[in-house]
Amino acid sequence: MEEQERSLNFIEQIVEKDLAEGVNNGRIQTRFPPEPNGYLHIGHVKAICMDFGIAEKYNGVCNLRFDDTNPAKEDTEYVETIERDIRWLGFKWGQIYYASDYFQQLYDLAIRFIKAGKAYVDEQTAEQIAEQKGTPTEPGVASPYRDRPIEENLRLFEAMQRGEIEEGKMVLRAKIDMANPNMHFRDPIMYRIITSHPHHRTGRKWNVYPMYDFAHGQSDYFEGVTHSICTLEFEVHRPLYDYFIDQFSGPNFCGLSPYGPDYRPKQREFNRLNITYTVMSKRKMLQLVKEGLVAGWDDPRMPTVCGLRRRGYTPQAIRTFMDKIGYTKVEGMIDQGLLEHTIREDLKETAPRVCAIFDPVKLVITNYEGAGETIVAENIDGIESLGTREMRFGRELWIERGDFLEEADNKFYRLSPGGREVRLKASYIIQATGCEKDADGNITTVYATYDPNSKSGTEGGNRKTKATINWVECNSALDAEVRLYDRLFAVENPSAEEGDFRDLLNPDSLKVVTAKVEGALRSELHAPIFADGIEQENHYQLLKQGYFVVDPDTTAEHLVLNRTCSLKDNYLK
Ligand code: ATP
Ligand code: MG
Repeated sequence: MEEQERSLNFIEQIVEKDLAEGVNNGRIQTRFPPEPNGYLHIGHVKAICMDFGIAEKYNGVCNLRFDDTNPAKEDTEYVETIERDIRWLGFKWGQIYYASDYFQQLYDLAIRFIKAGKAYVDEQTAEQIAEQKGTPTEPGVASPYRDRPIEENLRLFEAMQRGEIEEGKMVLRAKIDMANPNMHFRDPIMYRIITSHPHHRTGRKWNVYPMYDFAHGQSDYFEGVTHSICTLEFEVHRPLYDYFIDQFSGPNFCGLSPYGPDYRPKQREFNRLNITYTVMSKRKMLQLVKEGLVAGWDDPRMPTVCGLRRRGYTPQAIRTFMDKIGYTKVEGMIDQGLLEHTIREDLKETAPRVCAIFDPVKLVITNYEGAGETIVAENIDGIESLGTREMRFGRELWIERGDFLEEADNKFYRLSPGGREVRLKASYIIQATGCEKDADGNITTVYATYDPNSKSGTEGGNRKTKATINWVECNSALDAEVRLYDRLFAVENPSAEEGDFRDLLNPDSLKVVTAKVEGALRSELHAPIFADGIEQENHYQLLKQGYFVVDPDTTAEHLVLNRTCSLKDNYLK
């Protein structure tokens, strides 16, 4: 969709209003805050397009912030792949930050809260604390530790940080309101102890780690974020986000931000992306990877960015898709068909066409003499600007088994002995004369004659036939491993079904065939090529078969192609 055609989404409207009112002196700063505990998926891309898109559009900056507050689940492996995926999508961040950069500041803030009587150390178990929370209509019950003296809270919190208290034995809670109708205000946990895992950046320096609600808004504040955009499930957290910011900004300003007392980040929420026939949770994806139910995070069936990339999705198509679905305040489910449609439309304009024969049978042109010839064919019929390729032609060709019938009625337009004339794509007209079979009755060779004066591009090339078939010359043909991917799950919404989501995997999501492909594809027999440090994908349309991408498993001897999508939507009802 063209930028001008699209009306502003509701976040853009908010930003334009803020700009018009001079909020934050016209400064626009966003952030994308992934937790480095898994690979980015297409749901994250929706957030990325929003966060980076707003900054791009309004001359602001979008920083990348790793929300690394849980050392038990996070790893540098994830940090690296997240950076790589964002770069591949074509976005540029201003700075890279880590929530762990703020551990000292957050700790100091927590101490300040304790000293102000706004936080206390609770020694109850997680279960006890949960039981006391109450319900939205019933107030909660105060912890017996709620009114412990400030000095004792300070001493215990410092002991927690020194590693003197066992993991799970104590937490630091904000002392807010156990009767608040918003459950998030009922003395939320600010800090917990994690001693079982070192942090991937700070090692063993910290034994207490801030919870999301205490870390996120404060990190936004320290960095100077103006618009903290996230998904709808955080809407109920927003009052708590604001409560914490209130404690040290405005009239309570204590110099923690260079932007002065009037500055404050504002959280805004939009609807999550959910897509049919897949899952959008890192936890479930990790399970699929760990249990070998897919080949890895970048398995072409996975909804991860690296999976989509390996499937043959382009950054442009993914971004166009995000533009099409837009941003609202209503949760919903997007049809996977729309995603497939977007990549199909993209590749239609750009992917060179080549012939590939999936179920080959040999065709011998009995009256063709000589060593063969080279045919020059357009990469995309009718689009000269996309160049040409050379196709080898000769006496022996591979054709699709289904393009020949020994006995056919007159509704069959392709090859049959004594039947119609058929054009071989971009070359000559032939007519079948017979076939040979093995002992089991399987056809092994088809025989035909050709008309030497019918070559495409010559005067005789204008002669029309009812059918055109694909072919690949036998001597120059290349064997390719072709991976035919389909949807990962057999049901529309695996997350909504009872039972184990792994039982809902589509058993036919991968089929592998060996195809005979045009010699032109020999140029793909090499290790991946990099440009600007980013691996380049090459896309093709295999005529009549679909859109394919060269897989990184390809070597100098072995070509591997992945099906990105079929030529038409096979699922259209
Ligand atoms: P998961 O629940 O799969 O672990 P997450 O939301 O915890 O995902 P984060 O790394 O915390 O993952 O997410 C980073 C950002 O991406 C957040 O701002 C989050 O709101 C956004 N995000 C995550 N999933 C989606 C989604 N399906 N649609 C839109 N935005 C998403
Ligand atoms: Mg999260």
